[in-house]
Amino acid sequence: MSILVVGTVAFDSIQTPFGKAEHCLGGSATYFSLAASFFTEVDLIAVIGEDFGDEDVAIFRGRNINLDGLKRVDGAKTFFWRGEYGYDLNVAQTRETQLNVFADFHPQLNEKQRKTDVLFLANIHPELQMDVLHQCERPRLVALDTMNLWIDTKHAELERAFSEVDLVVINEAEVRQFTREPNLVKATRQILALGPKTLVVKRGEYGVLLVSKNAIFAAPAYPLENVFDPTGAGDTFAGGFLGYLASRREVTDLELRRATIFGSVLASFTVEKFSLDRLREITLADVQERYHDFRSLTHFEDFEA
Ligand code: AMP
Repeated sequence: MSILVVGTVAFDSIQTPFGKAEHCLGGSATYFSLAASFFTEVDLIAVIGEDFGDEDVAIFRGRNINLDGLKRVDGAKTFFWRGEYGYDLNVAQTRETQLNVFADFHPQLNEKQRKTDVLFLANIHPELQMDVLHQCERPRLVALDTMNLWIDTKHAELERAFSEVDLVVINEAEVRQFTREPNLVKATRQILALGPKTLVVKRGEYGVLLVSKNAIFAAPAYPLENVFDPTGAGDTFAGGFLGYLASRREVTDLELRRATIFGSVLASFTVEKFSLDRLREITLADVQERYHDFRSLTHFEDFEA
């Protein structure tokens, strides 16, 4: 089973209350691919500029990540994002976004990529997400992530995109922003009415809410003492979540719950250091161990009357 992802491979400059990192590795597809590759083979579709050196590409090597779909454009610059966080680490303030090579990226998928089993449309403009979706032949599962920039500037395109996918991974604030509905439960129902079967609402340090037509599941975030940089937590969550699902035969309620915990586990590692510094050093054994910690954290028995 493999998973195809389209999204950004980027350079980020990040400031948090605990420090800053200039021009470090980032991008929605970068975090996603590393996280998903713990469970399944990943086909990465993205574009980089001349400034993205072999030492940067090395982050993907030695993992289960196929780079046939990673294009380099000579004489152009890599996607760049500058973000800042205050003491509320759930809220990223975007200071600068340079699409650069992504402004007119029109990937042509090869036959293997078109036949992917699972497709993840990571955060990037919805036209590119749809371009890739329409080249694929009926994946078993299609999921999409987005952000406030595209909700502001491409609302209609995004609404159409929501109607074509099975699952949407989205932040709590973005759910409210998209629907203009303050009540989160009502807002998720509005998005589900557009077409997706499942909505995964990321709530930062408060965890995740999984909502489908007939079921709802809530998971807390792993209680960490040291959170340095929340950048990429959402994409890492999506990578753990979908990577795990792609490795399973069926998408059942039980598997969706396990996937939610794997996503949360992976995301909890990402935020412990800047950029991809923590995610790149962990092993599958670390992931499995924290999954078990999560289980004891959330387990409780029914009461006896
Ligand atoms: P998150 O998981 O939401 O924290 O995603 C952080 C990553 O998203 C950063 O590494 C950025 O490079 C990337 N990013 C920021 N803005 C955008 C955007 N408008 N489109 C695609 N990727 C973005």
